[in-house]
Amino acid sequence: MRSHAALLAPLIILAQMLAAPAAAALPRAANVPGGVALVALGPLAPGIPQPHAWLGEQAVLVAADHGQWVAVVGLALDTPIATHELRVVEASGEARSVHFPVVGKRYPEQRITLKDTRKVDLSASDLARVEGEMKTIQALKQHWRATPETDTDFVLPAEGRLTGRFGVRRYFNGEARSPHAGFDIAVPTGSPVKANARGTVLAIGDFFFNGKTVLVDHGNGLLSMYCHLDRIDVAPGDPVEKNQVVARSGMTGRATGPHLHWSVILNGAMVDPWLFVSPNVRKP
Ligand code: ZN
Repeated sequence: MRSHAALLAPLIILAQMLAAPAAAALPRAANVPGGVALVALGPLAPGIPQPHAWLGEQAVLVAADHGQWVAVVGLALDTPIATHELRVVEASGEARSVHFPVVGKRYPEQRITLKDTRKVDLSASDLARVEGEMKTIQALKQHWRATPETDTDFVLPAEGRLTGRFGVRRYFNGEARSPHAGFDIAVPTGSPVKANARGTVLAIGDFFFNGKTVLVDHGNGLLSMYCHLDRIDVAPGDPVEKNQVVARSGMTGRATGPHLHWSVILNGAMVDPWLFVSPNVRKP
């Protein structure tokens, strides 16, 4: 006769699985530059903490999904088309490599003619300011705050017409500029800007290109950045809930009209925010 313990074992495992972190709605996978790779790291085991993963020197978000540990890897727009290596360290200390492919994606081009060339060719003082600000933003993008869970199921931070897609390769007066590393939603100045997921305000600023800006840290290397704001209603360190109004939209910095620019940063990489929005939400 089987012992009670043997009969109970599956129930205990089930109970432990239920007590494990709830399956997060992960972003949609897109193994392309500017996308997100979902890399399976193995099954959740009762009582065994999550593994940790690194892409080069950068720590990567690891989430529980359908009984599996999954590395949620942000791929910068300049990621080489190749097989990439994730370094995985188990809770036991055992280390291994997991490989995943990144394939090419051709983003559309946009050619813009600006009559005011001062907006294209910066003065020496503006250039110096921009270089300093780029360093500040670059450092903020690398920010890592470990949290037990990360909400990757985003709502849209504003309701309006989509006017700027992620990844568009922009040319001003024929000169190549950095690709559009965010999502533009046309909204009148003063419209509420809501946190797309819970988090903590990492920083606020007023930048040459981005204008008034709020950065929200969702934990484990996932950040949101809202730009061209008219007014900021939060301060660094403030906790924010999903849907909480953090600012009012505007057209500060270099904006050709009032809109919200929303960037999503994952393990230091600017990725397509749309991958994190529920497929039930219609593109604005
Ligand atoms: Zn934009």
